[in-house]
Amino acid sequence: MKKYIFVTGGVCSSLGKGIAAASLGSLLESRGMRICMIKVDPYLNVDAGTMSPYQHGEVYVTDDGAETDLDLGNYGRFTSSGLSKDHSITTGQIYQQVIKKEREGKYLGKCVQVVPHITDEIKSRIYRLGEKEDIDVTIVEVGGTVGDIESIPYLEAVRQMIHEKGKGDTLSVHLTLVPEVTGGEVKTKPTQHSVKEMREIGIQPDVLLCRCKNELDNDLKKKISQFTNIDYDSVLSAHDVNTTIYEIPVIYNEQGLCEIVVKKLGLKVGKAKLGAWLKVAESYKGAKKTVNIAMVGKYIELADAYKSIDEAIIHGAIANGVKVNIIKIDSERLENGVSPEEVFKGVDGILVPGGFGQRGILGMVYAARYAREKKIPYLGICLGLQIMVIEYGRNVLGIEKADSSEFKPDGKTNVVTLLEEQVDVTAFGGTMRLGLSKSKLEKGTKIEMAYGEPEAWERHRHRYEVNNDYKEQLMAKGLVISGYTPDGSLVEAVEWSDHPWGVSVQFHPEFTSKPVKAGPLFRDFVKASIK
Ligand code: GLN
Repeated sequence: MKKYIFVTGGVCSSLGKGIAAASLGSLLESRGMRICMIKVDPYLNVDAGTMSPYQHGEVYVTDDGAETDLDLGNYGRFTSSGLSKDHSITTGQIYQQVIKKEREGKYLGKCVQVVPHITDEIKSRIYRLGEKEDIDVTIVEVGGTVGDIESIPYLEAVRQMIHEKGKGDTLSVHLTLVPEVTGGEVKTKPTQHSVKEMREIGIQPDVLLCRCKNELDNDLKKKISQFTNIDYDSVLSAHDVNTTIYEIPVIYNEQGLCEIVVKKLGLKVGKAKLGAWLKVAESYKGAKKTVNIAMVGKYIELADAYKSIDEAIIHGAIANGVKVNIIKIDSERLENGVSPEEVFKGVDGILVPGGFGQRGILGMVYAARYAREKKIPYLGICLGLQIMVIEYGRNVLGIEKADSSEFKPDGKTNVVTLLEEQVDVTAFGGTMRLGLSKSKLEKGTKIEMAYGEPEAWERHRHRYEVNNDYKEQLMAKGLVISGYTPDGSLVEAVEWSDHPWGVSVQFHPEFTSKPVKAGPLFRDFVKASIK
C-alpha cells in the first residue's frame, strides 16, 4: 500500500516546515523507505522563476530545469529522492490546467468549480507521483499557513485524500509555534487554535511538531495533547538548534518521530542507518577553527535569497572539519566609498553569487579585483563568473568599458553577451538556459582537480555568456578557460592563473551540494580559504 504524509503549518510562516518535512524524509530513507517529496504552493505564479529573491527567497532549479520553491532545495539536501518539475505544484499550474481542459471541452456541460475540479487536479498530481511502483511513502508539504485563504483548496484536497485512502495509509503532521512571552512563560494557546482550525477543515492532525525556544516539558506536552486530541507521545518538541540544521533529523529521531510514523502507518522498515547524519552533526560541533567567507551580493537583506549557496558553503566547511562564518556584504557598499580593505577585513575567501540586473554590479567588480590582486580565494557563480570576466577585461586587458549586454545592451565592448538561443526570447517565465548539462573540464585546472574527473554535471539558469570574440584576448592575458560545453561553443568555467584559488562557473554547483557530500567546488574553495 502506498502511504502519504501531509505536512502543514500553523500560527505563522517561516517555522521550518520544509526542513521538518525533509528531516522526516531523511529518517524514513535511513530505514530503507523509498520516498517521494512534493511541495504544493498556494500562489498563482506558475513557478517561482519570475519571483524576486526578495519576495520568496532563492529560486531552486531541478535537473529538468524547473524553477521551484526553495524548499525543494531542502529535500535535495536532506534526501536522495528524485526532484523534477512534477514535485513543485502551484495554484498557477493547477488553474492553468483546469482552464485548458475547460476550453478543450473536457468538462462539457458542467459548471467548473474549485470543488471538485481544482481539488481533483491537485489530488491527481499527487497520486500520479505517489502511486508509482518504486515509491513507498510520499511526503506532501503544504505551503502557507492554515487559515490562509489560498491554502483552502489544498487542505480540502488533503482532507479528501485522507478520507479516500483511510487513516492507516495517511498521516497528518502539523507544525506550530509554542512561543515564550515576556517573563519566560510558554504559551500553548496559538497551537490549540491552530489545531482547532485544522479540525474545522476536517483534518485531525496525528503528529504535532511544536517549534519552541527551549525543549518542551512533559506538562506542556500533556496540556497540548489534551486540548488537541493528539496522542501525548505524538506531541514533539521542535526546539531551536544552536549548531546546524543538519542536526534536526537526529533530534527528531531521538524523540521517536520515525517510530511514531512507522507505527501509525504500519510501515515495514529496516533498522535505522543514521551514521552519515551523526557524522555531519559531530563534525560540525567538533570543529575548532572558523573560516570567514564574504558573500558579495545584491539580495542580502533577505536571509533566504542565497539559501543553497549558504548551505553549500557550510557543506564545504563540514568536509574540511571547520566552522564557517558567512559575512553577507551588500555590493553597493563598495560603490559608496567604503574601501575594500575595510569591507574585507579578516575575510578568508570571497564569493560572488548569481543575480540579475545592473544594480550593485560595480561593487562586485571591485570585490573580484580585490580578490585577484590580494590573492584571496574567490568563487564566482553564474553572475560571479561574468563579473570575473568583466573585471579581467577592464583591469587586465585594459578595455575600460568592458561590460555585459545585460547591463549595457548597446555596448561596443561587451565581454559577456546574450546567448544566441535567447535573442528572440520575449516572455520571461521558464525561458532561460535551464537545468542539468555536462561541462568538459580542461586537464590540470583547479576545477578539474576539484571534480576529480574531466567532466561536471551541474544545473544552469542564465541568459548571458562569455563573448567568444574575447576568448583569445582573455586567454593570452592569463585567464584560464577551464570548462566548456561538450561542443566547445560556450564557456562554462574560468580561473585565474598565478592565483591560489580563483575559480568561476557559469552553472550553479550549489544545487547539487549535500551535507553528507559537499559540492567539490565548495569543498576546495573553503579548503583554499583555510590556508
Ligand atoms: N544575469 C545573468 C544571466 O542571466 C546571471 C544569471 C545568474 O546568476 N543566475 O546570465
